[in-house]
Amino acid sequence: MKLRLLTVLPIVLLCFRLSAQSSDTIKTSKGNLIIHFLGHGTLMFEFNGKIIHIDPSSNVADYAKLPKADLILITHHHGDHLDSTALASIYTKSSSLYWTTECEKTSKFKALASVLQNGDKVIWKGILIEAVPAYNIVNKRQNGSPYHPMGEGNGYILTFSNKRVYIAGDTENIPEMLRFRPIDIAFLPMNLPYTMTPEMVKDAALMINPKILYPYHYGKTDTSIIVELLKDTPSIEVRLRKME
Ligand code: ZN
Ligand code: ZN
Repeated sequence: MKLRLLTVLPIVLLCFRLSAQSSDTIKTSKGNLIIHFLGHGTLMFEFNGKIIHIDPSSNVADYAKLPKADLILITHHHGDHLDSTALASIYTKSSSLYWTTECEKTSKFKALASVLQNGDKVIWKGILIEAVPAYNIVNKRQNGSPYHPMGEGNGYILTFSNKRVYIAGDTENIPEMLRFRPIDIAFLPMNLPYTMTPEMVKDAALMINPKILYPYHYGKTDTSIIVELLKDTPSIEVRLRKME
């Protein structure tokens, strides 16, 4: 019995370590990019001493304990992406904040922010930020309007030296994705009814062809399905992190 426990224990510990992993380090030609997986649609990046918060949300982290922002990117105004309390904790006079027209209209948090529309590009401290479309085609509210209408929200493609990282925001597999290549790392949302099924994520992944795919914003979706769907596509590594 004792022997059996000793055999099983390392496997249990390994599984725990994998599922609880909260950051990954990606090598770029100009230093490491550290990705912190805070949960759902929320991320924090560190690159060359700069802190980048994406869709900071108090639902997934205590922002009083996290580093202040050099850069904040908000994809759209829904409550799980735009949170005035989290913003107030990390925003300083030297932070740059980019968001959308709807964010500007609805946020209680008033700050010096810049609106990015789909197609806009800015260079922030050497990092190219591209705002790209994020919208629903098939998933709609009962009144017929999409959960995310075209033109309202942004995805962001960030270029960290030689690595291009795509954070999709809330979107479906939209035809514009064919034009995003090359992408090294993609974060794609996978929950219904607001974003994509695993089958739609597969379609999106084949359009984007990232080297690493992180499903995120996945709620209760069974993440093993996307692993299975992409098992014959070895050019795309699916990495599962705690991002429900
Ligand atoms: Zn949304
Ligand atoms: Zn969302």
